[in-house]
Amino acid sequence: GKAFLEVNDLQVRFPTDDGLVRAVNGMNFSLQPGETLGIVGESGSGKSVTSLAIMGLHKGSRAQVEGEIWLDGNELVSMRVEEMRRLRGSKVAMIFQDPLSAMHPFYRIGDQLTEAYLVHNDVSKAAAKTRAIDLLERVGIPSPASRFYDYPHQFSGGMRQRAMIAMALMCDPRLLIADEPTTALDVTVQAQILDLMNDLQKEFNSAIIIITHDLGVVAQMAEKLVVMYGGRVVESGTVRDIFYRPEHPYTWGLLSSIPRITGGGDRLKSIKGSPPSLINLPTGCPFHPRCDYRDKVPGDACVTDVPELLQVGAAGQSPADAAGHLARCHIDSAERKRIFAEQIKPS
Ligand code: SF4
Ligand code: MG
Repeated sequence: GKAFLEVNDLQVRFPTDDGLVRAVNGMNFSLQPGETLGIVGESGSGKSVTSLAIMGLHKGSRAQVEGEIWLDGNELVSMRVEEMRRLRGSKVAMIFQDPLSAMHPFYRIGDQLTEAYLVHNDVSKAAAKTRAIDLLERVGIPSPASRFYDYPHQFSGGMRQRAMIAMALMCDPRLLIADEPTTALDVTVQAQILDLMNDLQKEFNSAIIIITHDLGVVAQMAEKLVVMYGGRVVESGTVRDIFYRPEHPYTWGLLSSIPRITGGGDRLKSIKGSPPSLINLPTGCPFHPRCDYRDKVPGDACVTDVPELLQVGAAGQSPADAAGHLARCHIDSAERKRIFAEQIKPS
């Protein structure tokens, strides 16, 4: 049978004045209720476009979407706009980085919470209000019954983020997509919001996709991880696999740029160079202009051939552990394990 959410060979392109943007070039993943998937990558890696496609927010635009997105037995890529709109109010909800972009500045918080709920459910205004106040309380807004009448600017940044989570939960979504949900917040509030999302997930058994450039957020939230680069998945697997046995040079770079995972505060470094243009993707492996390990691959393969996303070699792992750990690099898996152990792993 199909997983609750299944994305099969998703491709997203959109025309611009500068050329065709190849934002997502073949993406696959699956997710079950109660699971959290992290999608990481730099800006322009295709991670946000993936979420917009799942939400159906490209529909009616000039974006070209191919592949399949199955959610609870419904195929979303071919779904009509009207049907998709219904689904967005019930089964899927999204949390954005900037709550102000999702909220109307001139409407009271309470009205914004109840509006979509009233459209999608046959309930009284009083019942909707009760539910909204209850959710505001659950996400930790003090005096929710009076805060219900506040405007967004009367809330602090952290409180707006909580209110947006409450707004997303109004319709009991089975899938929650959070795009950089805590990036704008200070570290303490960020940790509180992530805790809150974890608690709510346990209570509602929702599936969560968390899109971020911050592997610390992934460590706190997710069990599964997809690493994107140049609109492609370059590595995917469990968070454990990817944090402790990463097999892609780009992932190595990401991991060594966060001291709390490599364990040495002095080792903080960022990946040299900048992300590729999605209009003019490099030939071959899209990471090749920034990769330090091309000399490990014979000939010109890194520059001429796109590596396939393949199961990593199972040496030293039980087949169960190896299942689902994939990487896209021409270096042979055993050699990648050796390089990681000898040159990259924190000692
Ligand atoms: Fe680096 Fe080549 Fe592997 Fe790409 S395929 S990550 S360029 S070694
Ligand atoms: Mg979780």
